Amino acid sequence: VGGFVFLGAHRALDFVNTWTVDRGAPVERLGGFAALVDWARAAKLLAAVDAEVALARWAAQPQPAVHAEARALREAVRAWLRDPAALDPLLARVNTELSRIEPRVQVANVDGGLVTQAWLDDARPEALLRALAADVADLLCHVPRHEIRPCGARDCHLWFRAWHRTAVRTWCSNERCGGRTRTARWAERASRHR
Ligand SMILES: [Zn+2]
Repeated sequence: VGGFVFLGAHRALDFVNTWTVDRGAPVERLGGFAALVDWARAAKLLAAVDAEVALARWAAQPQPAVHAEARALREAVRAWLRDPAALDPLLARVNTELSRIEPRVQVANVDGGLVTQAWLDDARPEALLRALAADVADLLCHVPRHEIRPCGARDCHLWFRAWHRTAVRTWCSNERCGGRTRTARWAERASRHR
């Protein structure tokens, strides 16, 4: 869906990775409000059914402000990832979104398991911002900073969490960057010895 990548091992990092660089060219995957809802659905931030309801209701009226605020939140996270000193502006933004009225929650029986889901039927589109901010809050409060890393490839701007069995992880993924970078290094070494 939408060319989204889910390699971050944390949903807030997957959110950051909706802007990236592919072979030197910037790629923006949150081009508009509909793309934001598509991403939220693909990331399971919203239940699929709720995403359909939300899209249908919200699409009737474009939500440029929600889209713009979501991207601003994303860029505040990125600024903090690049420079831990940029924490205060990020906290201000996260707390603004968290102070929004919470969407109602319901308990649903999904494939035999009970889960809480946001009841978006009567929620305004700003509910998305609150849900995104809750993910960022989890990243800030529950993920040690040293576990958050940028991909080791020079021209890749993806971020991911490396922990437990993936603690020595270097690349966003072996397919996307690991093999490519090893091949390039091998070619570089080979040409030097020629
Ligand atoms: Zn990469």
